[in-house]
Parts: sequence; structure tokens; C-alpha cells
Amino acid sequence: MDKIIDGKLIAERMRETIAADAAALTARGMTPGLAVVLVGEDPASRVYVSMKEKACAKAGIFSDEHKLSEQTSETELLRLIDDLNKDTRIDGILVQLPLPGHIDESKVLEAISPKKDVDGFHPYNVGRLVTGNPLFQPCTPYGIMKMLEQTGVDLRGKEVVVVGRSNIVGKPVALMCLAEHATVTICHSRTKDLAAQVRRGDVVIAAVGRPEMIKGDWIKPGAVVIDVGVNRVGEKKLVGDVEFEAAKERASAITPVPGGVGPMTITMLLYNTVESAKRRAAGK
Ligand code: NDP
Repeated sequence: MDKIIDGKLIAERMRETIAADAAALTARGMTPGLAVVLVGEDPASRVYVSMKEKACAKAGIFSDEHKLSEQTSETELLRLIDDLNKDTRIDGILVQLPLPGHIDESKVLEAISPKKDVDGFHPYNVGRLVTGNPLFQPCTPYGIMKMLEQTGVDLRGKEVVVVGRSNIVGKPVALMCLAEHATVTICHSRTKDLAAQVRRGDVVIAAVGRPEMIKGDWIKPGAVVIDVGVNRVGEKKLVGDVEFEAAKERASAITPVPGGVGPMTITMLLYNTVESAKRRAAGK
């Protein structure tokens, strides 16, 4: 296998299949639909939302945009979600996070129908992931699993070391690796001797958000390294959580930043939306 795991290429290939599936559904009068809800003016959120809209258009997915003012009340937002839950053109509902401070994020996420929860953040879907019977799986960790699969990494019996325990990346990716029969260690800010933990990893998944904190010489020779971190250093440069050049010398395969995990996240959002539309088409 190639040493550099090309997330862009894997994502492009997946998007071709997703677009073909979306076209087949459209031919049956069941165009997949994704509602994207943005509250407020957060610049990064606006960029993400516009990337998601463009990706939908390219894949032949109907995107229903709701750009609401910063002053939108929680009640108004919950009413919109209720409407979208009932809207038969909509297969997926995405509420861009973070929400303004006056809105209770978990209340909003729990209002989304679990059957349209393409981000996989609803406690129902989290529960299904924990119990090994997933419906919607969160996009970034799911994308990581697809990359490992495409790279030919068999996780059975492997030592997987996940650094980071967030609800959107660390915890769900650990559960997904466990479901693939890996032996999983989850590290976090209170972990003692992080270097020693990482050194045991046949697969290391870094989701911390600290530039190059995982040193190249912590990587076990031959390990597979997945770097989720996106850290801006200086004006333009992006780096991951792993010291890439040094880690590359020891790893058997490694994701770059950018061009690694990043392109997979939106791809999995499209994937989840089309899978949801397929379930609608099958009357499930
Ligand atoms: P969070 O900030 O929610 O979580 C970071 C985790 O790292 C926490 O569990 C924290 O531990 C742990 N941590 C912090 N410092 C240390 C340390 N010194 N040693 C060990 N662990 C530490 O981040 P996210 O999970 O949301 O994101 C992680 C990174 O991934 C970010 O750079 C983010 O930008 C990127 N990202 C990229 C995506 C993509 O599509 N490519 C998507 C999502 C995220 P504790 O719990 O103890 O505080």
C-alpha cells in the first residue's frame, strides 16, 4: 500500500458512487434531501455550510438551506426542526455547531428525528453505536473507518491508540474500532505517559487539536497513523496533531494534513444522507 493515505482520492471515489446512487434515487422520483441549518454569523461555520451545500449540488442531493439570524430563539429553531422532521423531501437534518449561547445544543440535537440524524449525534444513534447496532454514525470517525478499510488495514486483534475523547471524534472512533475487534486505548489530557501509550499502537488515531504534539519517535515502526487534527500555524499553514515528517519515516501508512481525514467528513455526510434516502425509498 502507499505510505501516504490519500484522503482526497478515497473521498473522490466514494463521492462518485454516492452521486450514482443519488441519481438512481432521483430517477425513481426520490431525490435525496439534506436540510442544513445555520444559526448566526460564525465565519468558520459559514464556510463549512457553504462547502456542504456545494458538495450536495455536485452529488445530486437536494440541499435545503436555512440561514437564521443570531437572535433566533430556541423555540423558533425547535419549530423549524419539527417541520423538517415531517418534511418528506428531507432525508437528513444537519444543524451546524456551535449554536449561539442562548440555545441549548443538546435539546436541539435531541429534537432531530433519529431517522434523519445524518450527523449521528442524537443519543439514540450514539446508543446504537455503543450497542453495536449502528444506524447513523458520526461523519469524521466513520470517514476514518472507511479510510482504514480502503487502505487494507485489518483491525482484528490490533492495538489501537486513540488520543482524544471528544463526542464527535475520539469516543465514537474508539467504539468503531472496538466493533472491528481491535484492542482500544483511549488517551486524554490526564493520561500519564502519553508517549508510552502511543508507542504501543499498531494504529494511532490523533484527535487532539494541538500542533504536532505526537512526536515522530513515539510511533511504533510499521504503525498506521491517522491524524485528525487541523491546526493553523502562522497565516496560511495547516498542520496536524502528529509530527508528520518524522512519523512518516516510521509509519507503514499515514494521513497528511491537509488532504487526509478532512475530505472524508463531508463525504460521509453525503453518504449518510443517501443511505437515509435509500431507507425512505425502501419504506423503512
Ligand atoms: P476536542 O477539543 O473536543 O477534544 C480534544 C481532546 O484532546 C480531548 O479529549 C482532550 O482531553 C484531548 N487532549 C487535549 N490536550 C491533550 C494532551 N496534552 N494530551 C492528551 N490529550 C489531550 O477536539 P475534537 O475532537 O473536536 O477535535 C480534535 C481535532 O480534530 C481538532 O484539531 C479539530 O480541528 C480536528 N477535527 C477535524 C475534523 C476533520 O474533518 N478533519 C473534524 C473534527 C475535528 P480532555 O477530554 O481530557 O480534555
